[in-house]
Amino acid sequence: MAISLPALPYEKDALSPFISANTLEFHYGKHHKTYVDNLNKLIEGTDLALLSLEEIIKTSAKDAAKTGIFNNAAQVWNHSFYWQCLKKGGGTPLGAIAAKINATWGSHDKFAEELKNAGIGQFGSGWVWLIQDGKDLKIIKTANADTPIAHSQKPLLTIDVWEHAYYLDYQNRRPDYLTAVIKNLINWDFVNANLN
Ligand code: MN
Repeated sequence: MAISLPALPYEKDALSPFISANTLEFHYGKHHKTYVDNLNKLIEGTDLALLSLEEIIKTSAKDAAKTGIFNNAAQVWNHSFYWQCLKKGGGTPLGAIAAKINATWGSHDKFAEELKNAGIGQFGSGWVWLIQDGKDLKIIKTANADTPIAHSQKPLLTIDVWEHAYYLDYQNRRPDYLTAVIKNLINWDFVNANLN
């Protein structure tokens, strides 16, 4: 069973001006698609081709000989999750997640600041995440392709901080990208749906 590239949940210009259609042309249409294509080439004809994407990630994470498979599989999963974390007209959290954020960080502004700082603090390529750990919420960052899925953690939200996520729109200004995404594009309905 080949792994497929999921459709973007919106048009390529939906996140403009904060993330341009040009960025999505490359980020979804080239980078994400390449991870899917590479993964399918690497697993074709092997036992891994019979597994789900999450099973491929968990299996390859434990095997140093399968780093290439892990990197591509995790990047496929991370990007599919990231697209769902964004929407036009996102912004202030609502519902259960808003209450949990206030209980954990005191305010949405404090949470937004810590999420942004974690993204800025990820040296080189990676991801910043809001995860659920039991009843607690935590902000974590992962390097390169690494993903909470590989560590039996429950992701609620992610922001891609690889340069390819923002370079066309913001050049080197990762903090400005993070500010714009956190303020304008977070799909809190999706985050709420991920809560246990
Ligand atoms: Mn990316």
